[in-house]
Amino acid sequence: MVFKRKNKTKIAMSLRFYIFAARKSYLLPNKMKKLMICIGMAAALVGCSPKQEEVAEQPQPKEEFKYLVDEFADLRIMRYQIPDWDQLTLQQKSYIYYLGEAAKCGRDILADQNFKYNLVVRKTIEAVLNSYQGDRDCADFQNFVVYAKRVFFSNGIHHHYAEDKFFPEVSEAYFAEVIKGSDASQLPLNEGETVDQFIAFLTPVVFDKELYKMRRSSEDDIIVNSAVNFYEGDIRKADVEAFYDKMREPNDATPISYGLNSKLVKEDGKIYEDVYKVDGLYGEAITAIIGWLQKANEVAENDIQRDYTQKLIDYYTTGDLKTWDEYNVAWVQDSVSHIDFVNGFIEDYNDPMGMKATWEAIVNFKDLEATKRSNTIGENAQWFEDHSPVDPRFKKEKCKGVSAKSITVTTLGGDCFPSPPIGINLPNADWIRKDYGSKSVTITNLMEAYDKAADECPRSALKEFAYSQDEVDLCKKYGSDADVVHTNLHECLGHGSGKLLPGTQPGALKEFSSTLEEARADLFGLYYLADPKMVELGVMPDAEAYKAEYCSYIRNGMMSQLARVELGKDVTESHMQNRKLISEWCYEKGREANVIEKKVENGKTYFIVNDFEALRGLFGELLAEIQRIKSEGDYAAGKAIVEQYAVKVDPELHKEVKERYNALGLKPYGGFINPEIVPVEENGKVVDYKVEYPSDFVAQHMKYGKEYSFLKAKH
Ligand SMILES: [Zn+2]
Repeated sequence: MVFKRKNKTKIAMSLRFYIFAARKSYLLPNKMKKLMICIGMAAALVGCSPKQEEVAEQPQPKEEFKYLVDEFADLRIMRYQIPDWDQLTLQQKSYIYYLGEAAKCGRDILADQNFKYNLVVRKTIEAVLNSYQGDRDCADFQNFVVYAKRVFFSNGIHHHYAEDKFFPEVSEAYFAEVIKGSDASQLPLNEGETVDQFIAFLTPVVFDKELYKMRRSSEDDIIVNSAVNFYEGDIRKADVEAFYDKMREPNDATPISYGLNSKLVKEDGKIYEDVYKVDGLYGEAITAIIGWLQKANEVAENDIQRDYTQKLIDYYTTGDLKTWDEYNVAWVQDSVSHIDFVNGFIEDYNDPMGMKATWEAIVNFKDLEATKRSNTIGENAQWFEDHSPVDPRFKKEKCKGVSAKSITVTTLGGDCFPSPPIGINLPNADWIRKDYGSKSVTITNLMEAYDKAADECPRSALKEFAYSQDEVDLCKKYGSDADVVHTNLHECLGHGSGKLLPGTQPGALKEFSSTLEEARADLFGLYYLADPKMVELGVMPDAEAYKAEYCSYIRNGMMSQLARVELGKDVTESHMQNRKLISEWCYEKGREANVIEKKVENGKTYFIVNDFEALRGLFGELLAEIQRIKSEGDYAAGKAIVEQYAVKVDPELHKEVKERYNALGLKPYGGFINPEIVPVEENGKVVDYKVEYPSDFVAQHMKYGKEYSFLKAKH
């Protein structure tokens, strides 16, 4: 699971800053998150447009390093730094370099998984940017460039977060004109295909509002209506269920993640899996990844790394999911290595069936100072499990191996790039988590970058959506710390808590599993954030601090996150659904006692937490219920609670939130440019690796398109 940024309306956007004081001056142990946690969701409602800086009066201490480097559409592009790079040895740097190359080699895979013609669109865009001979200064071409950036950002033609198709703000005629004005030899033409024929094929793919309109659809039939490329041919939801139901063995204590690394194809009435492996689907890219992993293994830090990396290579070679499990079992137990990585088909969020995984990669090394704090939480995992408000039947008797660390990322790839999680919690297989534990990671240098980028901008969503100055002050004082700790709890403990009853299938909650799983982890964190134990452990500064997170959470879940949903649309993304579910449920259950109050003043709506203790009680109640749903695999109850609270939006409120948010001129989603790790040679020998920080988003993607593209764009 990944930890995404929550998009709260905080001080400018700094939710997780955590490390921000880190580096040298450090903050104390109140902030962190998890790497494998929920990295990504980060779409903090925070960005801001440099154009609007009306500052000037108070000269800020000038930072050499600029975090916020570009903005377009609803996106902002930032850079992140790699602190402490120079403290690594040459061998460690080499290891990170090779792993980083491997992390860049799967970019095409993700694009193709997201939608079958994404590579065609992207390669067409690359051809135009490379070779178009016409006017590049006109508004039309600038709009074309914006479309190009959006495709790069989303790894395809569907919004990375909302999952709906977005469109170029140019005419079909102009789109055709730039293609015709470019070097035809660079276009992904079929043999014998003319440019005109190609344009006739491509135009509806890009422009038709009804065609391929959702990457992942929740409308029946979810397979037929989803453009995602995990299924091919005339396949329906029932076919998929029947195909995999046959494979699953009931009562298997160590179930294989069936379907994880393949496309399901129906051909001539027969259904089969096209498996991602060296001599299968995506073989060219997988071969390149393996090549770099092999090089990495030559300079690995220890045999543990070499051993599991070899298992990963074996898995990529054969596609055997048993080997994938073996790899994960070995990988999750490595808590000693300074350097670590994720590389594989991991997260199933993009599959309407929640089964097939997109490719992603992250390379990182430990942030030692920040890790101390998360360790405190991890070391007390059993205490938290024992005291949680869920039915004892659903608790883990033994919480194993909750490993919580904070990391510095060096390269993001696949589904983690350019929009990464800020935390991660892996592996995903429930039985491995139960028997061997999980790694929870908070990515401190990304959180820092989010916060620093927010500091580069003066507008604040917090002031707009918080009801009172007291609330603003509370959130400013404690918001970042409380948020980091909440993320830590979510990642380090939340996802790892609880157990399934014997006989409950891990996939029993089907299309509602992601939302319910995120809700479970969030609730675990919310419940404990207010526990005196947190202050006792020195993780929270005092007994008031949690209130900042409670206010922010409710404000965001009831209201401000709607800024990221298009008018007229439902909430579809699972982390957003989870926050809406929790907030709406608590609002309704606490209505009589006025736990959360809705106020409308001057046409502006506010949600105010009146009774923090009661709210904590409601969080505990809902945690118990959602844990029950998961433990028992109660699909009907899971479906009911998600459909009642998590999906439908009050259109009036939605419109109001969009207007208020838009007036702030903030960009809701953030992503990054990777630093470049560059070998330094002397007399033909690599003597060092230096880090460069490019600032041109398009240039990086063009470079990646040129150097790390291994798959043919087919149509
Ligand atoms: Zn999560």
